[in-house]
Parts: sequence; C-alpha cells; structure tokens
Amino acid sequence: MTSNSLFDNTETAFKLKSDSELERAYFLFKMISKEPLVKIGTAVTKFALNINLPVEGIIRFTVFDHFCGGVNERDCMSTVDKLFDVGVSSVLDFSVEGKEEDAQFDATANKVIELTKFAKNKEAMPFSVFKPTGFGRFKIWQKITEKQPLTESEEEEWKRIEERYEKVSKEAYESKISLLIDGEESWMQDAADDLCEKMMEKYNKESPIVFNTLQCYRWDRLEYLKKIHQRSKTKGYKLGFKIVRGAYMEKENERAVEKGYKTPICVSKKATDDNFNQIMEYIMDNLDDIELFVGTHNESSTYLTMDLMNEKGISKSDGRVWFGQLFGMSDHITFNLGDEGYNVAKYIPFGPVKDVMPYLIRRAEENTSVAGQTSRELTLLKKERERRKM
Ligand SMILES: Cc1cc2nc3c(=O)[nH]c(=O)nc-3n(C[C@H](O)[C@H](O)[C@H](O)COP(=O)(O)OP(=O)(O)OC[C@H]3O[C@@H](n4cnc5c(N)ncnc54)[C@H](O)[C@@H]3O)c2cc1C
Repeated sequence: MTSNSLFDNTETAFKLKSDSELERAYFLFKMISKEPLVKIGTAVTKFALNINLPVEGIIRFTVFDHFCGGVNERDCMSTVDKLFDVGVSSVLDFSVEGKEEDAQFDATANKVIELTKFAKNKEAMPFSVFKPTGFGRFKIWQKITEKQPLTESEEEEWKRIEERYEKVSKEAYESKISLLIDGEESWMQDAADDLCEKMMEKYNKESPIVFNTLQCYRWDRLEYLKKIHQRSKTKGYKLGFKIVRGAYMEKENERAVEKGYKTPICVSKKATDDNFNQIMEYIMDNLDDIELFVGTHNESSTYLTMDLMNEKGISKSDGRVWFGQLFGMSDHITFNLGDEGYNVAKYIPFGPVKDVMPYLIRRAEENTSVAGQTSRELTLLKKERERRKM
C-alpha cells in the first residue's frame, strides 16, 4: 500500500513557490471559495471585458498568473524548465475558447502543430493537447452528434475540421508526441469521439499516439470504453485515454432538465467516483492495449492508481501510466508524485487574457462548487506558510 500521507508533504508541494507566490495563492483560493463573490466577479469581469474596460491587468496579476503559463508559449518556457527540474513534465495548452471562424480554427491547429514540432525530442514536453471546439464550430459537432443533416457549406466546414485533425495527428505521429484530445459537452461529443477513433485507427497501429478523453461523470463511459476496446482489438490498433471526472456537470444537468431527457451525468458524486475508479481499473487491467493518463485532483483516486500499480508490479516510471493536474491546482499531488518518480504532468494553459477567460471561469466555479477541494488547498497553503515561519 502507498502511504496515504504522501500528499501532506507541503515542503515538496510548494518548493517552487516563493513566499509572495504562496501568499497570492492563499489569497486567491480564499476569494474563490466564496460562491457569491465568484458569481458576481465572473459577471462583472465578462461585462467589463465586453465593453473593453481596462481590467486585463488586474486579471493578469491575480487569476491569470496563478492558473496560466502566460500569453504565449515563450512565456511558459521558464515554468516548463522549472517543473522539469523537479520531475514534472508539461502539457502546453493553447486555451483559446469560444471561437467561431475558420481562420481562428486554422490558427489554433497551426499552433498545436507548431507546439508539437517544438516538443519533439524534448523530454519535458511529452504531450500536445487540443479541444475539438478549438478546431471547428460547436454547432457542427452538435449537428453531427444529433444526426442532423448538414448544409452544403457545413459539409465543407466539416471536411476542413477533419483535415485539421488529420494534419495534427500526422505531426504528432511523426514527432512521436502523444496527442491528448479534450472532452467537452455530451451533445457534441459523439462526433468528436468518432473522429478521434478514426485518427486512432490510423496513427495508433504501433503505439498510442492519439488519446481521447473519458469524462467519468457520464454513466455511459465504461460501456463505451469496453466497446471501443473490442473494436480496436479487432482492427489492430492501440488506445490511449485521459480519464477525468468532467467539467460541465451543471450545464449538462440543466440542459437535460430543460430538454426533458435523462441526464448523462451519474446520480451522485459517489457514483462518479466509483465510475472513475472502475474505468481506471479497467484500463490498468488492459495496459498492453490501452495507455492511461489520470487527470485528477482527487487524492483517493490517485492513491488508488498508485496502489494498483504497486499490486500489479508496474513500475512508477512505466511510460503507460501518467498522472496530470492543472497548473495552479493540487501542487501537493503533482510535486509529491514527481518526487516519488511517477510520470506526472501539469496542463499549462496559455493565450491572450480575454480568450482564456472561459477556462479561468471554469476553474473559479469548480473551486467554488467542489466541496472540500478549496479547503484542502487552503489548509495545505496555510500549513506551508506556518512551516516556513518556523
Ligand atoms: C489534467 C486534467 C485534464 C482535464 N481535462 C478535461 C477534459 O478534457 N474535459 C473535461 O470535461 N474536464 C477536464 N478536466 C477537469 C476535470 O474534469 C474535473 O472538472 C476536475 O479535475 C475536478 O475533478 P477531480 O477528479 O479533480 O476531483 P473531485 O473534486 O473529486 O471531483 C469533482 C468532480 O466530480 C463530479 N461531481 C461533483 N459532484 C457531483 C455530483 N453531485 N454528481 C455527479 N458528479 C459529481 C464533477 O465532475 C466534478 O467536477 C481535466 C482535469 C485535469 C486535472
């Protein structure tokens, strides 16, 4: 059994944080732990940005600098180096969201290609990442998922999305960089899953290059995993999955009520946790066919994964199992895993302040709504402050 106190080591967890960065983190988590403040704060910020009030500076020095690596990839490089020095890899995530135009989708795909080429042969950056809606309009994904007919011009648009997937996957294959594709809302996800499967079939013949995401708050994901596993065995290609709980729960439940269908979300937090752990265990039992990226800030699921690795005689540095946390969150998990010799990476979002706002708002809301998580961050930050004073 792994010692269940590993993540309590705050000295290792915060060794890259200066005293002032520690204070800022404490202040920030204290602020976002207050739900009314987050609600008012996000509304005011959205409004201010929409009417071009000069609020970028204040966002930059508070939430942005805490949760993002910078406005461009160059800004992120000193962070990448610092992390790698302490055994933590980086996944640079160009987090521009909510775009609607082809030129912007091309620019995002080109950025992912550029980053993939850049990561080639760099041990510190073993993954590239993108979001399906970074490469094409939400509405197109949704129409295909809902089996609605596309207009002629939408057909053309869809072809261009497929081409972007193809170009990026080919580059990842040639550069030997694993490509993580994020999971999004369930009402567009089938189309994204199918296109991802096509890429897996083509580029994962020797080893998993293209990874999809399983959002385990969806009760149908274990069944989906078992089915795609069978298909991949029949057709002869490998799978890679990032497993997460899922970031769109409120939206998913609200839409299901509004439209009158059964929610795709598990009935309770416990059911999501069980589903996550079962999916993780299924992959662990099939590591020869499926590689695993455990994207979570949940300590129990992380300890469970470590225990299973130990039980099955899988070494800590086995390249088929990775852990991942988001930059600015759960450093106690990331840095202690890195220190122990596990494969662990931070997702480092970057992009212009205005464009990463949807990402930042999700993080603020998540830290407010997820009972326990913020108080855990605060307790650990407080403990480290006290330790440093001694
Ligand atoms: C490296 C990394 C990559 C990520 N990539 C993606 C991605 O591609 N797509 C995506 O959607 N998210 C992604 N996320 C975010 C992730 O889905 C979660 O929102 C976040 O990590 C919180 O879940 P947790 O496992 O860390 O922790 P926990 O705090 O244990 O779990 C919180 C989560 O549990 C679920 N939950 C909470 N209450 C209930 C309830 N009443 N009923 C059912 N379920 C409930 C929700 O999913 C909630 O976010 C990523 C996270 C990480 C760390």
